[in-house]
Amino acid sequence: MSSIAELAQALKSGDRRALAKAITLVESSRTTDRESARELLGTLGSAPATTFRIGVTGVPGAGKSTLIDVLGCHAILAGHRVAVLAVDPSSRQSGGSVLGDKTRMSRLAAEGAAYVRPSPTLGVLGGVAARTREAISLCEAAGYDLIFVETVGVGQSEEQVASIVDCVLLVLLAGAGDEISSMKRGILEAADVIAFNKADGERIASVVSDAAALRASLTVSHGERVPRVLSVSATEGVGVPELWDTLSAQHAQAQSAGAFQQRRARQRKDWFDSALEEALREAFARRPGVELALRAAEASVADGRISPDEAARRLVAAMLPPAHDPT
Ligand code: GDP
Repeated sequence: MSSIAELAQALKSGDRRALAKAITLVESSRTTDRESARELLGTLGSAPATTFRIGVTGVPGAGKSTLIDVLGCHAILAGHRVAVLAVDPSSRQSGGSVLGDKTRMSRLAAEGAAYVRPSPTLGVLGGVAARTREAISLCEAAGYDLIFVETVGVGQSEEQVASIVDCVLLVLLAGAGDEISSMKRGILEAADVIAFNKADGERIASVVSDAAALRASLTVSHGERVPRVLSVSATEGVGVPELWDTLSAQHAQAQSAGAFQQRRARQRKDWFDSALEEALREAFARRPGVELALRAAEASVADGRISPDEAARRLVAAMLPPAHDPT
């Protein structure tokens, strides 16, 4: 594929290799790739507002992948085309990956109507959210109308994911009481639906009682917007149709109440804000002399000769011409 126009064409016609190539392009932080990625996204235009983006979060081992596998297959039977992206900021720091080192979602990956991105998206320039947002757009342009974004519940990544999806599904295990109380409030607050997984075998009773306890405590603490709490078994498929119905009903309800459109509008505004920040940074970095001045400022900040805030302001004032005041 020689040109961006050809890549866009192939992607829209459902060519998976083109989609994979396009996602690799948006994940790259090389300047030339960033330019191509922008051109590609511009060529593809904005996605239809009929798609449904679900963030799935929870600790490693909670069963997120297994649950997405079975939920995705269920959704395909209901006529959806499903894409799965994974966000794993840990892979950047450690070189390894919490999400990626296993055969992922083998049933779903074998479906013609599904695309499972094998490797987790790296958290690069501009944070996890920016690049994943672009990857979502690409999947939607390729005709996938249901997008799962999987992330590990170990840090701030799930909050970033909440800022780019329509709905957050939190996957918990029985006995997660400690985990819940140590969990940042933000994660529980960002959850729209909570699924206690592994409700099978000997664990059924503890799952059901933990789910009931959380349901009761959320009703007290959350007031109006109480997330639904369900029990499921991803491996047995128990509760999966109900979970899918809950997610779909919530989507339909958000659409009819206008909350869906509001959330998307807010997210587009956030996207614009971060794109503007990135564009400004890049334009600034291209100005003659900035590179040297930046290094000098960094050195002064590092050894405490100047405060970070003061250094940033002085650098910008020295490198940008004063605004022309027409009055
Ligand atoms: P993830 O790290 O959250 O994506 O978790 P995985 O989907 O990789 O699941 C972790 C382990 O739990 C795997 O060995 C799964 O087979 C197992 N598992 C997932 N869901 C269930 C379930 O509903 N019941 C039982 N018993 N095991 C499950």
